[in-house]
Amino acid sequence: MNVYDIIDKKKLGKRLAAEEITWVIDSLVKGIMPDYQMTALLMAMFLKGMNKQETADLTNAMLNSGKVLTFKDPKIIDKHSTGGVGDKTSFILAPIAAAVGVKVPMIAGRGLGHTGGTVDKVEAIKGFKTNLNLTQFSNLLKSKGLVLIGQTKDIAPADKIIYGLRDVTATIDSIPLITASIMSKKLAEGANGIVMDIKVGNGAFMKSKSDARKLAKSILETANRFNKKGVALLTNMDQPNGHLIGNSLELIESMETLKGHGPEDLTYLSLHLAANMIHLAGIEKSFSASMKKAKQVVKNGKAIKKFESLIKNQGGNHKVVNNYDLLPIAGKRTIIRAPKDGWVKSFDTTHLGFLCTDLGGGRRVKTDKIDFGVGFDLHKKIGDKIKSGDPIMTIYHNANQTKVVKNITKDFLNDVVTFSTRKVKTPEVIYEKVTL
Ligand code: URA
Repeated sequence: MNVYDIIDKKKLGKRLAAEEITWVIDSLVKGIMPDYQMTALLMAMFLKGMNKQETADLTNAMLNSGKVLTFKDPKIIDKHSTGGVGDKTSFILAPIAAAVGVKVPMIAGRGLGHTGGTVDKVEAIKGFKTNLNLTQFSNLLKSKGLVLIGQTKDIAPADKIIYGLRDVTATIDSIPLITASIMSKKLAEGANGIVMDIKVGNGAFMKSKSDARKLAKSILETANRFNKKGVALLTNMDQPNGHLIGNSLELIESMETLKGHGPEDLTYLSLHLAANMIHLAGIEKSFSASMKKAKQVVKNGKAIKKFESLIKNQGGNHKVVNNYDLLPIAGKRTIIRAPKDGWVKSFDTTHLGFLCTDLGGGRRVKTDKIDFGVGFDLHKKIGDKIKSGDPIMTIYHNANQTKVVKNITKDFLNDVVTFSTRKVKTPEVIYEKVTL
């Protein structure tokens, strides 16, 4: 086989055979195929598309590029989000689902660009180990029912290489490529079912509901081909989830939600995702019974206890659950106030995510060091009434950040938030549920 011919074939919009796709992925992982040929092929795949069979073949080749875990337990269910701003639902739904009896294997990512990463956030807890090996991962999953680690080079290494290339060659937002990327990782970690949170809006990869629906179908069809159960929720990312953005701050909001004191939108979304996991695991026969169980473990304290034991099991300081001062929090606060009366109309959510990165809460490049303590508290959200001078957002920052705080304040008021003089409807949190 020859790479040139395979690129040329896809360039002309022809269908690639399973053997060709497998050969390409194998050559890439072995370091035989250079990056420039892979990026040319990725662009051809992006522009000409891939049918369902090709998408499944690519998923299969990427999945088998590393170790593949298999567990018999049908109660092993994972959740994956396509990423957004203030998206902390993993810390809430995983302990809820686990407290009800779902086994949750989380291999989570780090943040890059405007979106935060679960692994970065949990590392704000002193001592929490995210670099467990796959044996430790499997053992904790079996014995404790909940485990959270970072991506390892053993699971779907092809995705790591391809994702890095897509990130810098404008080939991220392709439905077949996203499907293969997500599903290769999820299938390799041994989950028997997956609940997808597909974010839609100006802070998400999918900007429209129709694209998000196509992605949902593509992911669910691929899961089905590999005999895995799946369900997807299309959810609103035209504004952050909850109020707090930034690593330590998001952990605090998650713990408050696990204790039953979270903001309405975040609580609603997390409970729905958790209930879908409980239902998919077959623990309850109906969705409403699953929801009842999810609410019950928040109310009776079992969910926050489960989070506490997750921290303990992975070497972290579990006292943080009852003492948020143990988290690094930046010492200075600057409040941005409403310039006029009215209602909050919209946010440019991607831009807001990047402002958190500017503050040090995220990375522009992979080698940047994260400042866990900085971030935002967004007091007003879309549909909220405001009076001139009301606090809209508090910036948590360090003493030496006067200049960046000034720029953030200017950008937030000029480019991120818009206001209306007329009443604005509170937006929906979940648009629809997609099943096959
Ligand atoms: N998340 C992933 O893991 N991969 C993609 O391609 C997009 C979002």
